[in-house]
Parts: sequence; C-alpha cells; structure tokens
Amino acid sequence: MSAEHGNRAKNLVGKRYGRLVVTARAANANGKSQWRCLCDCGSSAVRSGNLLTRGDVLSCGCLHKERASANMTQLHAAKRAGPPKQYGRPGRPKNVTKDATALAVAFGYPRGDKNA
Ligand SMILES: [Zn+2]
Repeated sequence: MSAEHGNRAKNLVGKRYGRLVVTARAANANGKSQWRCLCDCGSSAVRSGNLLTRGDVLSCGCLHKERASANMTQLHAAKRAGPPKQYGRPGRPKNVTKDATALAVAFGYPRGDKNA
C-alpha cells in the first residue's frame, strides 16, 4: 500500500511559513492535517496544513495583532496631525478701504489727491 494514498499530507516539518516554522505533526482536525508551529515571537500554534501551504497563516496571530496596532498607531497619528487647519477665510480686513475713504470724505479731504 502506497503511503501517498492513505495520507495526502505532505511533511511540512522544518518548513517556514512567514513567522511560523513547522516543528511537528499534530493530530488531524476535521480530517485535515494539523501542524505544530513555532512562531518567531516565541509562541507555538497549531495550524492547518492547507492554510500554511496556501500562505493564509503567517504567524501565531502576533503578526495580525502587530499590523492592527500599527494601523491604529498610524490612524491616531493622522488624527493628531489632522487636516490642515482652516481659520475661516484668510483675514481680509473688513471694508477698510471703503471706511478709510468714507472717513477721509467725512473729514473733507479730497479723494484720491496724492499731492495733498
Ligand atoms: Zn507570533
């Protein structure tokens, strides 16, 4: 009897998938081969061979957590920085020219007479 038929699982021991290095075969779950893996972070995890070989799992879960927290950090940083602040329209003095002219006229100065 050929071993290839009864047991389709490849031997993944020693292979690395992302941060996980397969250290041993674990008991099957749901008819799927499971593998005990050691993560770079020091945690161990049991993962399905399918997921490992497909590249669906790359860590014990720490990678996802780190990414999530990195995203959150970026998000918070972006929130802190905020969009460029807008203080309404750049302060255009209110009707200064008009008022000055009106004032000059009121005081009897000739309008637009630069030689005065
Ligand atoms: Zn890990």
